Amino acid sequence: MPNEAVIGIGIFCSDPRPGANLWKEMKKRLVHVEETIVPLGVLGGPISLANQDDLPTEFNFLMAQIYFALATFPTAKRILVVSHDCGYYNQIRSRTFTLLDKENDLIKVANFLKERFPELVVTTYFWTNKEAGFKKIS
Ligand SMILES: [Zn+2]
Repeated sequence: MPNEAVIGIGIFCSDPRPGANLWKEMKKRLVHVEETIVPLGVLGGPISLANQDDLPTEFNFLMAQIYFALATFPTAKRILVVSHDCGYYNQIRSRTFTLLDKENDLIKVANFLKERFPELVVTTYFWTNKEAGFKKIS
């Protein structure tokens, strides 16, 4: 099924509420209809990749998912990472995060993923709202 080859994996928070449903918005705004992205949706999405010491369980789980996805879908050439003003940050009790901190975490995530998977293209977006949509971070 060459026309349905997986082109990448998507990492995002799986919060399904209206206005926070990132996977629905990604499919509408960031993924072309002919592209197949493997959705790695989990509550908190990519934030454990930027806060590995604070969220080691989440980090290890997500890394296992990423490695499995890349092994199962070797045609994947990109990682699409999306974050938002996520409630999962409350799980990190040692400090608080501003909206800018949460956006900047995507830069950390991109740097980490590019170093770990240099053969893949990594792009990151931060969800703002229905009107403004996604803001490209890197
Ligand atoms: Zn979230």
